[in-house]
Amino acid sequence: MRTEFDVAVIGLGAMGSMALWQLAEDGLDVVGFEQFGIGHDRGAVGGETRLFRRMQTSGPEYTPVIKLAHARWERLQEFSDIQILTETGGLMIGRSEDSRMVAARVASEKAGVEVEYLSQLDMENRFPEHQLDHDEIGMFDATQGYIRCEQAVLTAVARAKALGAQIHDYSKVSIQHASVDGVVMTDGENEWTAKKVIVTTGSWSGEHLTPELRTKSRAGRIKLTWFSPLPGHDFSAESFPVFQRLVADGTLYGAPSLDGGGSVKIAPGGAPTQMTGPDDYFRGQTVEEIQYMERHVARYFPGLNKSPIRAGAWADFYVDDWIPFLGFLPRSENILLANGFAGFGFKMCPGIGRIAADMVQGKNDRQFQFMEPSRSIGTHAGKAR
Ligand SMILES: Cc1cc2nc3c(=O)[nH]c(=O)nc-3n(C[C@H](O)[C@H](O)[C@H](O)COP(=O)(O)OP(=O)(O)OC[C@H]3O[C@@H](n4cnc5c(N)ncnc54)[C@H](O)[C@@H]3O)c2cc1C
Repeated sequence: MRTEFDVAVIGLGAMGSMALWQLAEDGLDVVGFEQFGIGHDRGAVGGETRLFRRMQTSGPEYTPVIKLAHARWERLQEFSDIQILTETGGLMIGRSEDSRMVAARVASEKAGVEVEYLSQLDMENRFPEHQLDHDEIGMFDATQGYIRCEQAVLTAVARAKALGAQIHDYSKVSIQHASVDGVVMTDGENEWTAKKVIVTTGSWSGEHLTPELRTKSRAGRIKLTWFSPLPGHDFSAESFPVFQRLVADGTLYGAPSLDGGGSVKIAPGGAPTQMTGPDDYFRGQTVEEIQYMERHVARYFPGLNKSPIRAGAWADFYVDDWIPFLGFLPRSENILLANGFAGFGFKMCPGIGRIAADMVQGKNDRQFQFMEPSRSIGTHAGKAR
């Protein structure tokens, strides 16, 4: 078996699977390492779906990444019989003067996304499962949708393999040595060498960073919950597309039922909760966390049973300013970072994979420099998802 490669990808979750596939498509000799099975749910992938939208309230600089990602989602679809990205359209619901609604309106305009404004009555007619107050409105954007996240990762890795990539699952590797000649990696028993390495290790990224970057980043815990519809209620994509709902103490977001009406995903948005480490965090939810969701579901979704039928937690990696790391590790020419996607990265992952694949081949696009790891890192200024 070969042990020398053009490019190695460490971590085959969202970003790594997409980088590996596109490097293989470019004709490079590539190897990918994953510490668990391919498509596992212990990192930031899991829970069936991720929301897709072109407008990004965290900044217009993400618009070209999302545009690129959309084109690459279409390309990936050619290799799967299961629909990966489904554009159901999507709603944002809140008071029109809420600063978050205003930010979304501005972000939509900047991203060139047309939105339709719906009054409480329009919402009652078209999307009756959402309970609105008289002063709330809906903003409908036809380009939003959901992505089947596990299927996306499985498809990208299978495609990379079909193109000749070597895949090592259940293989936790670390970088042993890096010099201008290449990077040596090991799993403790075997060694591999690559001219360039892309580190896409999500919540496990701390050990691959410089001490300075490590102090400015951490893993965070994100919760998801599923609820069961009451008889006579329709939570299919047509009447219940993906949504984000602004509430007084945060946001809720969700996706339609994908199992013929048995369960509907509705989750709390906002900042992640703290966690000990990616290997030992609480993957369930506390009674307080569940009761928070029960109160909100009873108030805003009267067509659902208020108690969740499923509740869990996953992990993502956060830089203090909530801007990802995408670029070479400071003082390195051959170790590229693509991590820190702060709970909003899935929609962009084939775009990020494409950009990372270009960067290790010496192609740098200035419009993506805002994610450069050597930037000055401030604090997080706004909500991103
Ligand atoms: C619950 C939840 C909901 C979310 N909702 C949305 C959403 O609606 N829309 C959206 O756009 N984004 C969403 N996100 C964010 C998005 O899913 C993440 O930003 C994205 O998946 C991060 O990808 P990643 O590749 O950095 O990390 P991961 O997908 O976690 O991949 C990292 C991989 O590296 C592997 N690994 C780590 N260390 C090693 C090692 N040493 N050797 C080998 N393998 C290793 C891990 O096992 C893992 O498979 C959500 C995230 C979560 C957790």
